[in-house]
Amino acid sequence: MQQKLEYSLDPDNWDELRTQGHRMLDDIIDYMQHLRERPVWQPAPDDVRNAFREPLPQGPTALQEVHQTFMQNILPYAIGNAHPGFMGWVQGGGTPVGMLAEMLAAGINANVGGRNQIPVEVERQILRWVRELFSFPEDASGIFVTGTSMANLIGVLVARTKALGVDIRSTGLQNSGKRLAAYTSVAAHACVAQAFDLSGLGTNALRLIPTDAQGEMDIEALKRVIAKDREHGFTPFFVAGTAGTVDTGAVDKLTVLADIAEQEDLWFHIDGAYGALAVMAPDIAPRLAGIERADSIAFDFHKWAQVQYDAGFILVRDGALHEATFAAPVAYLARAERGMATASPPWPCDFGPDLSRGFRALKTWYAIKTYGIDGLGKVISGGCALAQYLKQRIEAEPALELLAPVSLNIVCFGYRCCEGDADRVNANLAIALQESGIAAPSTTTINGRLAIRAALFNHRSTTQDVDALIEATLRFGADEVQNIKGYEKVA
Ligand SMILES: *Cc1c(COP(=O)(O)O)cnc(C)c1O
Repeated sequence: MQQKLEYSLDPDNWDELRTQGHRMLDDIIDYMQHLRERPVWQPAPDDVRNAFREPLPQGPTALQEVHQTFMQNILPYAIGNAHPGFMGWVQGGGTPVGMLAEMLAAGINANVGGRNQIPVEVERQILRWVRELFSFPEDASGIFVTGTSMANLIGVLVARTKALGVDIRSTGLQNSGKRLAAYTSVAAHACVAQAFDLSGLGTNALRLIPTDAQGEMDIEALKRVIAKDREHGFTPFFVAGTAGTVDTGAVDKLTVLADIAEQEDLWFHIDGAYGALAVMAPDIAPRLAGIERADSIAFDFHKWAQVQYDAGFILVRDGALHEATFAAPVAYLARAERGMATASPPWPCDFGPDLSRGFRALKTWYAIKTYGIDGLGKVISGGCALAQYLKQRIEAEPALELLAPVSLNIVCFGYRCCEGDADRVNANLAIALQESGIAAPSTTTINGRLAIRAALFNHRSTTQDVDALIEATLRFGADEVQNIKGYEKVA
């Protein structure tokens, strides 16, 4: 007979929990299966929002009742990135397999900071696969992190250690005596600059190099800026190429950047947040040539590879330097020869700032095993093919215009209209699309013009969704032009 605790967080009746658990599983599988029948997004009404301003609950509520609140007040009001009509920003759709794996990971509740356990070994398995994907050497290191924002920061910190020596960890930048300079393009994600901010190197140390007509870093400009920096006594130490810019999907000339990094003795980092994993798609992989020469690659499994949030990754060629940047021996984390705290190989917490870490590796392992690299690669090829289809549909519509080259799976376009009012019309049009629940693009600015931006990341999106986007854009675009003309008449 099991001892009865005065109060336990486990149920008194496991059969009841099991029944309720199966109901919850059915509810969420139903949701996934019938996503397409729902709007992409809908704003939450005030009463739903207010439901989250209740006082701190003192006593218990039945799980069944809490779950009903989830079904009514949470599930319908997510941003909608799981939906096939979602085309905003850069977000993955998630998979049924990833969802189930998350549940299992939660059941074990492993803390994957380290120690002698297979969950850590699963993470090392992913690292070995990642090395293979990018043709990195056996002593390359890597860990899961929240996302590419964190991965870029880790890349910058390891590069800093290389440039200034391990002692910089204790002496700090104040006495380094060197003025470091780094380079990325103006099209780089803002988190690259943020990494310079957080690292203490300062955003001014990062030079933003202009881009060419393709949205790729202007190589001649890069060379000029490096030469000028040397002339002025700076020490160039780091260049970040982007494999898939967030605005247009441009891929920097990675082989040329690798050559320059070699000649100039720069750390070659790649922000491949979503684009790097296109190495899984045989038709797109050649676009990434040169990525295998990087010193570090930051990328996300949660974007194009559709693994559930969050699942960022940092891969570093020089594993010893990576470890030297973060490892910090302390008594309560002492390592032993046997038992639960075996020293070798080093622990994930030795490669980044996080000690307690979730089991992100499991959902990734399930996804890679279940779908295979071929399956995930097909999603990536499919997104690029869909972008070409959207591009063709835009070019065939006199009312629409393409505003940037379509490099991978991102299409920037606008509704043609009225000199001076085009930005306002297109901004309103994008909002109208989002509020319609039909298709949800986001916006960005291309060459000073507001563009509607459709990023085709969702593995569920088809030509049907692209057709719906075009149809709704034409309809709402005409409405918005009418609206603007109406205002003018009144004014
Ligand atoms: C999404 C993205 C990032 C940021 O990644 P997070 O996972 O959101 O932290 C950085 N760079 C690029 C190019 C991105 O698309």
